Amino acid sequence: ISPTPYTGRFAPSPSGPLHMGSLVAAMASYLDAKVHHGAWLLRIEDLDYDRNVEGADASILASLQRCGMQWDGEATWQSRRLPLYEAALQQLQQAGLVYPCGCSRKEIADSNLRAGVAGHGVAVYPGTCRHGLAAGKEARAWRLRVPDASAGVLGFDDRWQGWQQQDLGRDVGDFVVLRGDGFWAYQLAVVVDDAEQGVTDVVRGADLLDSTPRQLYLQDVLGLPPPRFMHVPMVVNESGEKLSKQTGAAAFDTGAAPSTLLQQALLPAARFLGLDVSASNIEAFWRAAVPAWAQLLSRLPARA
Ligand code: GLU
Repeated sequence: ISPTPYTGRFAPSPSGPLHMGSLVAAMASYLDAKVHHGAWLLRIEDLDYDRNVEGADASILASLQRCGMQWDGEATWQSRRLPLYEAALQQLQQAGLVYPCGCSRKEIADSNLRAGVAGHGVAVYPGTCRHGLAAGKEARAWRLRVPDASAGVLGFDDRWQGWQQQDLGRDVGDFVVLRGDGFWAYQLAVVVDDAEQGVTDVVRGADLLDSTPRQLYLQDVLGLPPPRFMHVPMVVNESGEKLSKQTGAAAFDTGAAPSTLLQQALLPAARFLGLDVSASNIEAFWRAAVPAWAQLLSRLPARA
């Protein structure tokens, strides 16, 4: 019997150095790839040029290597893959699935207020430009048409969180795939890249759980195979916010001694994921963490 082919990936945005929150996602995706004897790819998601921090990509790669997490093949940068996103947009244009939208953020927010839509962070697009740009408006973005509200929910079985579903039309609305200022949307790029790189398994933080139905929808309309998904719990700070540079996540000292990285980064991240591991050096840590992850998988509700 040949083993099921497995390709995983870690896809950090270079908005700052690796910290406890991103290490947990890296560790989970790395361990899952190792348990499945699969490949683990590294992709730098640097399309949000406003948030990129110079040198953060190199710093993340160095931290991963110092922690003993070596990726397979060459690392990739989304900013070097723009023709792939262009081709996907053309495919959507030819299928009549995307349209130019001239609405400002404020117009969308005002319309949500009027309609009494309870936004959970993301504004729901009311569909204003679906049937053409209003006279005098300029295109600010390309949006993907989603099924109408209540036309059906998009569901998937998350390997950690169990069954998840979302009514895209009601909770998200037609969403942006290319911004007017030329920024490719994360949703489009991630779907195109995962398919092009042959990713079979996405393991990442639960903050991206509510992006997944949009990605499944894009995969469907682009005719791409959907990967399996696993969303691991997010490390939060005392106020319950996702850890990030903005919320005060301490970055690792990349120059720290291996024993410090083990004690202050790897062991706490493993404990956070619920892995029962003890080790006196980094190599021993990974030798113990791989079977511990396999154990943990067998206890997950979704029976990963
Ligand atoms: N680049 C995204 C982030 O750092 C992760 C994307 C993904 O794993 O799908 O939040």
